[in-house]
Amino acid sequence: MLGCLEELRTSLRDLGADLIFRRGRPEEVIPSLAREGGASSVHWTEDVSPFARRRDQSVVRNLAAAGIEACPHPGSYIVDRPGQIRSGQDRPYTVFSPFAKAWRDLGRRPREATPTRLTLAGSPDPGEMPTLKDLGMTDPGTETETSFTPGETAARKAAGLFLRDGVAEYGKRRNRPAGGTSRLSPYLRWGCLSPVEAEERLGQKSGEGPRVFRAELAWRDFYAAVLDNFPEVTRQEFQKRYRGTLNWQEDDELLEAWQQGKTGYPLVDAGMRELIGDGWMHNRVRMVVASFLTKDLHLDWREGERWFMECLLDGDVASNNGGWQWVTSVGTDPKPYFQRMFNPMIQQEKFDPAGEYVKRWIPELGDVPDEHLVRPWKMSPDEQEEFNCRIGQDYPEPVVDHAEERLFAIERYRAAVE
Ligand SMILES: Cc1cc2nc3c(=O)[nH]c(=O)nc-3n(C[C@H](O)[C@H](O)[C@H](O)COP(=O)(O)OP(=O)(O)OC[C@H]3O[C@@H](n4cnc5c(N)ncnc54)[C@H](O)[C@@H]3O)c2cc1C
Repeated sequence: MLGCLEELRTSLRDLGADLIFRRGRPEEVIPSLAREGGASSVHWTEDVSPFARRRDQSVVRNLAAAGIEACPHPGSYIVDRPGQIRSGQDRPYTVFSPFAKAWRDLGRRPREATPTRLTLAGSPDPGEMPTLKDLGMTDPGTETETSFTPGETAARKAAGLFLRDGVAEYGKRRNRPAGGTSRLSPYLRWGCLSPVEAEERLGQKSGEGPRVFRAELAWRDFYAAVLDNFPEVTRQEFQKRYRGTLNWQEDDELLEAWQQGKTGYPLVDAGMRELIGDGWMHNRVRMVVASFLTKDLHLDWREGERWFMECLLDGDVASNNGGWQWVTSVGTDPKPYFQRMFNPMIQQEKFDPAGEYVKRWIPELGDVPDEHLVRPWKMSPDEQEEFNCRIGQDYPEPVVDHAEERLFAIERYRAAVE
């Protein structure tokens, strides 16, 4: 966020304006800044999270009291207000496919051209860019340096490259953790890339890749619509039958093993280390690690949701909550829980057969040959020596037995709905 703001400030300065930093409560700071500059109206991009909506309401109230017009605008999503899309029965959609069908047929707002010149009324103090410390965070240092370059220039470049070279193969390659998706999510999250622009640049491209990519963008709008219409999902399950009935376990050691990528299941661990190391994780692996937390370790999905929000560069209340509720089978997804139990070993065999991804994030497995990469704990003591990977020493033993925990999860879910 700070990197993106820094670039935005430079762009605004190049146009003759500035990005002004103030610290305080938005409902006090914004009307006061508007008064200072003699503004007659204040414009901003709407958001759907319950926090953002409460914040905006109090800003609007105080702007009105000061006689200043409040002008929220759509901008975060492809359609203007995903939450206002209604079914034939005038209800919000709660299933993705019919939502996506209605979404596809809606008009799109035109993209505004970048202004060539801006002026700033008066000469307000531009303020200092905050530091991580100012925001109450510690500097993670270089150890956790991400591969994402912040800002609009990098966003446009990444979008251009993917839409030119990557999207045609997207349908085939998108499930491979080692690469194949656009990696545009942090840019969409921070407003460095307009989702309308991303869709527009797809243009008239036909074929499976562009079609699936557009559908993925629709998922983003769908989860915004769900959150907008059902803000209670940030605290509880979308499906009422699962509220308070799932008998979640508490185990700090298991939670920590999951967070730090030390569960003994290579695909899960690679994903969790990618999350810490790069601030991002591939979608298929997000599903695998989320299923592992909730259906192998039986820990509450809200723990996972929180950890993701803390680590993800694309952390977004609506998509994150939607993703977690989907994998936990408590959300809008109509498929039953027993059809959404990810086997981390089969997933690895299918989507990372040569171990490219797993080896990238787990150096301890660097010398382990392909045939042992999925179940390294099955190596004999001699093999462990030979391949420099002593189980329980260099790399952990599995913290649970997937086959057993799967059965327990089925029991837990069955008990919840009986
Ligand atoms: C448990 C869980 C948590 C998630 N948390 C987030 C989150 O906090 N923020 C976030 O942006 N996405 C989240 N996702 C969705 C998805 O994993 C990411 O959007 C995707 O991995 C981003 O990579 P990409 O840009 O390469 O995606 P691509 O495959 O290239 O897709 C293009 C864009 O479509 C959107 N998109 C794709 N899949 C989804 C989806 N399932 N739901 C919503 N939007 C989607 C994203 O904006 C993405 O950038 C989560 C998924 C799961 C299973």
